[in-house]
Parts: sequence; structure tokens; C-alpha cells
Amino acid sequence: MALPMRKSRLFYSLGIYFKFHLKLRVSYHDSVRVRFAPSPTGMLHLGGLRTALFNYLFAKSKNGNFVLRIEDTDQTRKVPKAVEKLEDVLQWTGIVPDESPTVGGPYGPYLQSERRSLYEKSVETLLKSGHCYHCFCTERRLEMLRKDAAKRGEPPRYDNKCRYLTEEEVNENLEQNIQSVIRFKYEPLESAWTDLVYGLMHEKSVGESLEGDFIVMKTDGFPTYHFANVVDDHYMKISHVLRGEEWTISTPKHLQMYKAFGWEPPAYAHLPLIVNSDGTKLSKRQGDITVEYFREQNYDPNAILNYLTTVSGAFKESTEGKTLGEMISMFSLDNVTSHPARLQPEKLKPLNGHHLRRQFHGEQKQQIVNKTQEMVQKHYMERVANSHVLDLSYIEHILTWALVSRISHLEDLLSNSLNFIWVIPDQEKVKSALFKDKNSETMIKGTIDKLNIVHTFKEAPLKETLMCFCKEQGFKTKHYMTALRNCLSEQKEGPPVAEMMEMLGKQETLKRLQSASDSLNTGQT
Ligand code: GLU
Repeated sequence: MALPMRKSRLFYSLGIYFKFHLKLRVSYHDSVRVRFAPSPTGMLHLGGLRTALFNYLFAKSKNGNFVLRIEDTDQTRKVPKAVEKLEDVLQWTGIVPDESPTVGGPYGPYLQSERRSLYEKSVETLLKSGHCYHCFCTERRLEMLRKDAAKRGEPPRYDNKCRYLTEEEVNENLEQNIQSVIRFKYEPLESAWTDLVYGLMHEKSVGESLEGDFIVMKTDGFPTYHFANVVDDHYMKISHVLRGEEWTISTPKHLQMYKAFGWEPPAYAHLPLIVNSDGTKLSKRQGDITVEYFREQNYDPNAILNYLTTVSGAFKESTEGKTLGEMISMFSLDNVTSHPARLQPEKLKPLNGHHLRRQFHGEQKQQIVNKTQEMVQKHYMERVANSHVLDLSYIEHILTWALVSRISHLEDLLSNSLNFIWVIPDQEKVKSALFKDKNSETMIKGTIDKLNIVHTFKEAPLKETLMCFCKEQGFKTKHYMTALRNCLSEQKEGPPVAEMMEMLGKQETLKRLQSASDSLNTGQT
């Protein structure tokens, strides 16, 4: 009995601590300012999109600002046009930054490569205060240290040799233009910090840094990620850092630098990993993890966002079918858990269906109809040229039917089983299939007669008429339906025959049955 009591008291105290601590952090900054800070090293992946999305939702739910900062200090990993593509794909998702390289803003420039003078000035401050020093170790020496560590089975570690150079030695080396980097004097972080997702953290819990004093300015004069990241978050007045869990390990370094500068750090929230449904890590080799891939597949951007949010906690209610705008008030950082978020690929299509239906039954109806027309025209080319299937009213009729439950993606309308909607069946194929059944002619001719007198060309009465005729004639239902399906679509599978007839309408249905009947009279194939 005593243990649970003690445990609950501990949680209670921690809760008070968190609340107090967080309140302090938030009130320190006047307003919420968050940033998405990708490196332009390739396409935007689902993990990056989730980070951008959560930053955006957090900012908007707090009337704050969402900043896009490009971290391009690693010149060797820069990919041409990556920034443009990134901004473009973010625009497509609707996650539009308030400040960015393109939009500009009061704390620009927003490309780190254009902020070098700020980093130079900032590193001077730390050199003067003794938190940083010049390191003249050659690549050869560093390589030797790495090899020695490997021999001992230890992780590579800089031995901090240049930390102890005298001022004269440093000046002499600088005068002789000996190449140098600038390192930060790293000391293990004594105090704990609060991560808004992971709770109370300590350097030991994230894995103590064993690499020795780390580099902040490289030989090419560019800052390292850690340094530029801290300097920019400070000068851009970032109040909360929401980023992927893989950066947790860097946080002690960042906090040390804040301490050295005498700056208040932002609040940190690390977001759990996004993994495959079987728990394995997403790999760059997987084709289906770039946002561009889903865009090319013609998915609705909101469906992609739902795909991420339905697995990510952070929402009180289900986000299925919700738009980006609607998700703002549903988002709460308090609900984000530290469990990895497992993607559920089978959910993506139904999620897309939600948005397609919503658009079709809302203001974007005309756009969807036009898009379908364009898609059908492009796909079937001359097979549909000048045909009634391109009439907007016909397309609207098809969409109304298909969107109830048949399709979740416009491209589904091009599947084999729905070909009949757009193209007339190939009479040679129809004929050769019908010849397999000796009753074909009686079946088709009799059906034509029956359908001619059906008044309401709707699924239910059609089904009844067909079934009555089938029974009356003693046909096997399966054989009869296969023959009719064949006349209408040349396919073996598809929607129920009566439903197909309703879709095609009386005139087109009778026309197809008649063509099939005529083809039977033109001899064996
Ligand atoms: N540039 C880092 C990245 O590519 C940003 C990490 C951070 O948000 O601090 O993800």
C-alpha cells in the first residue's frame, strides 16, 4: 500500500514542477515563435513534414508565428534546387510559413549561409569569454586519434589538446595562417531540463557526449549545425523548439552554449520517431516516404497530413477527414506521447476518399469534375474523343455514384473494373467470350426485350427484372450475369450488373447489348 502512495506523491510533485517550470519558460518569451529548420539535402520526407506540421499547428493554436529557416551550413551536402522544392512542397501542403527565405521577415535572412557575419560575431564573444578556442590539430592527428580509439573499441574522441595552448602559441599560429577550427569547451551538463514531450531529462539519460570539445566553426569559415542553430534560435526569438527525437542527444550541447552566452534557451519538445507499421525505421530507399511521391500520386495534401496525425497522438479527437485549418484547434502538445508513431498505409486511401468527397460536395465540385474530365481524356485519348463520356454532366453523375464508396482516389476511376464507364467494349473480345455459352443469344435478346419496358432505370428494379427473367428461363445466375457483364464491359469483374446498367443509362445499356447480339450473328471468331 505504501509504495503506490509514495509513487503518486512523486508524480504529483513532478507535475507541479513541470507546470511551474513551463509557465516560466513560456512567459519569458512574449509570443510563441517556432521554426522548421531543414537542411537542403534532398526531398522533404514524412518525418520532416510531421515536424513542420506540428510546429505550424502549435504556432497557429497559440496565435504565434511559424518560421522556415534553411540550415545550409554544410556546403558538402547541399543539393541544388532543394530549397525551392521544399518551399514549393510546403506551399502545396498548406503549411505556409509566416517568415521564410522567400517571404522574408523581421529576423532574416532565413538562409544560414547568408548569416555568416552573425556567427563570426557570436563566436568572437565566446572566444573572448574563454568558452571557445582555436584548434590547430591537423586532419592527420585527428585521424590518428580516431584510429587509436577504434583499436581500444571506444568511440572517437578529441583529446582537447588545443584547449591548453597559451595565448602566445595561438597568436603565433594565427599569424602564420595555420589552418584552424574553433571548438567549444564542453563540460557535462549538471542540471536537468524539461522536454515538453519526454519530461524531465538529464544528460545521462540522453547519452553523455564522449566526443570531447566540439567544433563550432569549421575550416571553411562556416559554422557547424549546433552553433548556427543556437545562435539563430536566439536571434530569431524562437520560443519553442519542436523537432525530431533524433536531436534529443544534441540538446545538452545546445543548452551549454546558451549558458555560455548567458541566454535563456527556448522550451524543447522532441517529437517521437515515425516508423513503418512493423516498427522498422523509415529508410530513404523506400519510395513512399517523400511528400513529392504522394503529390505525384495525386493525393490530397490534407489526406497526407491526416495520415501523419492519425498516428501521432497530439489530438483529442480523430483527425480523419479534417483539413489543416480544422486541425489547429484540435492540436495540443500536451497530448504528444513519446511512443514511436507507426504509419498505417492502409488508411491513406480512405483518408483521401474523405477529402475527395468533401470537395465534391462542397465548393470545389467544379474543379473535381474538370480534373476528372482532363484525366479521362488524357488516359483514353482517341477512345473517348468526341464521346458523351466527356460531358461534364455525365462525369458529375459518375462521380456522385463512385464517391459514395467505390473510389477514394480519382485515379481509381481508371481501373479495369470501371473501364466500362468510359469506353465501349471491344466487340471481338465480347464475341469470343459469349461464344463460350450456347445460351448467350437467348440471354441477350431476351434481356433487351425486358429492359425496353423497364420504366425506372434504377438498380433495384433493374435487378428484379433481370433476376425474374433469369429464373423464368432457367439460366444459371452466374452464367447469365457473366454474359451481361461481358456485353457491357468486356470484363469478368466489376460492380454489380444492375448497378452498371444504371450508371450507363437505358440508351447506352441497350446499345451495348444490341452490339453484342449483332456481333454473335457475324459468325464464329
Ligand atoms: N537542420 C536540422 C535538420 O535538418 C534541424 C534540427 C533542429 O530542428 O534543430 O533537421
